Amino acid sequence: MKLFNTASKKLETFKPISDVVKIYTCGPTVYNYQHIGNYAAYVYWDLLVRALKANGYKVKRVLNLTDVGHLVSDGDEGEDKLEKGAAREGKSVWEIADFYIDDFMKNFRALNLVKPDVVARATDYIEADQKAVDLMREHGFVYDTEDGVYYDTSRFEKYAEFARLDLSGLQAGARVGFSDEKRNASDFAVWKFIKPGEKHAMRWEYLGRPGYPGWHLECSTIIHEELGEPIDVHCGGIDHIPVHHTNEIAQTFAAYGHELSRVWLHCDFITIDGQKISKSLGNAYLLSDLEERGFSPMDYKMWLLSGHYQGTRNFTFESLSGAKARRLNWRNRIALCYQREIVGDADVYEKVLEAMSNNLNSAEAFAIIDNSVISLGDWKKIDKLFGLNLISDTPDVSEEIVNKIIEREKARTEKNYARSDEIRNELSLSGISLRDTPDGAVWEYLK
Ligand code: AMP
Ligand code: ZN
Repeated sequence: MKLFNTASKKLETFKPISDVVKIYTCGPTVYNYQHIGNYAAYVYWDLLVRALKANGYKVKRVLNLTDVGHLVSDGDEGEDKLEKGAAREGKSVWEIADFYIDDFMKNFRALNLVKPDVVARATDYIEADQKAVDLMREHGFVYDTEDGVYYDTSRFEKYAEFARLDLSGLQAGARVGFSDEKRNASDFAVWKFIKPGEKHAMRWEYLGRPGYPGWHLECSTIIHEELGEPIDVHCGGIDHIPVHHTNEIAQTFAAYGHELSRVWLHCDFITIDGQKISKSLGNAYLLSDLEERGFSPMDYKMWLLSGHYQGTRNFTFESLSGAKARRLNWRNRIALCYQREIVGDADVYEKVLEAMSNNLNSAEAFAIIDNSVISLGDWKKIDKLFGLNLISDTPDVSEEIVNKIIEREKARTEKNYARSDEIRNELSLSGISLRDTPDGAVWEYLK
């Protein structure tokens, strides 16, 4: 299997460190609904897990849920996103986290994504976070300010390497007056103190004061606790490269002296009608918005997989309609396998898997599927490889429908076209259409 490692910027042949491939995927901040762009990452990393398993690897995947510490600025300033959600909805931060975790997991299932082996909530790892900060202190990587415990990025020689950062530019561009206690512009909080009177419901005692972990810390800690570094593959959105992942790497080195991950995969952003996704533009669609317009989560998944995870994707409802039509076409090709003996082309599944093993090239795999005659056996394997629910959404039709089809055939041979049309209409109400072929009618799905 080959994967494009964003750290080395090279397509590399994947070699697991041990017999279980360790994967970590940065998860959502659970303070609001996730829009369709957010789900792209989870669909793509599910593909990675499925492709590795199809290649015979055992996989252990950990996904985190950020329920504390992610500030609205994405940096060390501003309100905690969970506090913001609580104020917006008049609920407690814990209720907000529970509600949006449930919603996220519900959509995760609707997209038929394999449940990660560990789903880790940041607030369950506070003690481990504090131990990690202790270790960083012991190794001389952190300093205290009035605001919190900060990581001294000048102490980690390779800090700029991963994201090829221009640190002198960053230093020059740092805002005057911003946290004057920070030694370097790129320094970041690993632990934040709660000031007297500050509203922050999630709080833990540490260093004699109430506080909470910095946003990046949970990933280093959860990886250490659940997988042990270095892991094989670390995944996230492209926006994570310059700060979040850079800081995860720095923390892991400072606390444990280890490399964090061998391979890094980053997926690019989705635009909608050529624009970035944003609430203010009114285009931050949820999966439920697509459903209201007649598109299932699987249609959206088909749309995502028709392109490459490392390319910018532009979403339009027109292209989503195309994905839906393709899904219907595939379902009907499978339905036909249940009605006629279909002799498939040789090695279709192997070719599809080969495309997927080449840096998850789902677009190429889809083109192979479009252009091949596929047996039921290969369809089943293909369906598993992508998790598209094509087969379970393609049950054999009921006996009643089969009898209607037979009755219609009889009406047609007897030239009773009125009855034949009547049956056709009845069937269409059950979502089934009939296509006449030289050797009799075959049923197909209408949607
Ligand atoms: P959050 O839940 O706010 O932590 O965001 C989750 C992640 O979703 C972000 O860090 C990005 O990696 C990803 N994301 C946000 N917007 C997009 C987008 N338009 N396309 C793809 N991924 C996105
Ligand atoms: Zn992370």
